[in-house]
Amino acid sequence: MDQPAIVSEVMAALNRVLPSQRPIALHEPKFGGNEWQYVKNCLDTGWVSSSGSHVSRFEQLLQDFTGAPYAVAVVNGTAALHIALQLAGVRPGDEVITPALSFVATANAISYCGGIPHFMDSESATLGANPVALAEYLSDIARVSSGVCFNRITGRPLRAVIPMHTFGHPVAIDGFLELCNRFGLALVEDAAESLGSYYGNRHTGTFGLLGTLSFNGNKIITTGGGGAILTNDKGLAQQAKHLTTTAKTNHRWTFSHDQLGYNYRLPNINAALGCAQLEQISGFLAAKRRLAARYHEAFSSVSDATLFSEPPGCRSNYWLNTLLLDQPSESLLDTLLETTNEEGILTRPAWTLMHHLPMYATCPKMHLPVAEDLAKRLLNLPSSVLLESIDG
Ligand SMILES: *Cc1c(COP(=O)(O)O)cnc(C)c1O
Repeated sequence: MDQPAIVSEVMAALNRVLPSQRPIALHEPKFGGNEWQYVKNCLDTGWVSSSGSHVSRFEQLLQDFTGAPYAVAVVNGTAALHIALQLAGVRPGDEVITPALSFVATANAISYCGGIPHFMDSESATLGANPVALAEYLSDIARVSSGVCFNRITGRPLRAVIPMHTFGHPVAIDGFLELCNRFGLALVEDAAESLGSYYGNRHTGTFGLLGTLSFNGNKIITTGGGGAILTNDKGLAQQAKHLTTTAKTNHRWTFSHDQLGYNYRLPNINAALGCAQLEQISGFLAAKRRLAARYHEAFSSVSDATLFSEPPGCRSNYWLNTLLLDQPSESLLDTLLETTNEEGILTRPAWTLMHHLPMYATCPKMHLPVAEDLAKRLLNLPSSVLLESIDG
């Protein structure tokens, strides 16, 4: 069968950048530092579980690296979002505005609080949500009464907005700060993919009331599974720690709990891995920029597709490198996915948009033309740090 020219051009560009070994995963971790030593220390001392010195060191390293005054380590990024939303005041029956183009965890965390996801559109300049389009939409459908924002159509409170820094690229967070102030909405940032990404010179995840990180195996650093809640607010940080440690009251031997809590604390053995990984992050980020630069060079000659670049005024971690077809085409995207995966180059599409999933099909949403368009143009390329060290 005749293939469009772009398919062989993309394969040639990928082969120029990638080593010859196959398969090549979308994103895999690199363990090149003190991982063995720190994990061995947990086993040698018996401190493997939910307390131990690596947890507080990991939190301190996260604070130092992101500039957030408080970081609370938890079992995964989804749990971080769940607790952050609860602390942002999301209660059953509240609506929370979240991107249609995101990983399912963002919408799921809203549902865990009994909230209702309300989907917003993206912008092609950042791949994240569009604050200008959202502000216009809210001017139409929202009403602020005694400081609480309501959806005039459903009558439910609109409680919070969760912009997400897509594939590591900072969203237009200033626009969200402004509109959250104007409409009385809490701002929670899903920074799961953007550790090491900056909007201006400030780290993503530190602008909102709360921000969340993920250290899943496919993220820029990993603890196996893990996450963190970032905040500038001491009271919220204390509540986050309390809620994630089963809301246990502080006593030498009494087992008592003063509210409904969660067993969400990051185990020491995972934090040990996290400390070793975070010690290496500047090297990881440099390798990612070199890989992105090589992809940009290799794809500059490919017609009808463009490699996405960090938004102006931002510094991205380039967690994933994204190729965008100039024209939306589901069939061409399918052909590219088929061809690359067949060759052992494990490219991936965008997530199925949230409003197309069965459990979220009836949720409220604004018009989503850009998210729909991006989903038909977007191909993520293998982006592991390892790829740079192997070939670089
Ligand atoms: C990875 C990720 C999360 C959280 O994932 P966990 O696997 O629970 O750590 C949340 N949101 C986005 C956008 C993510 O990419």
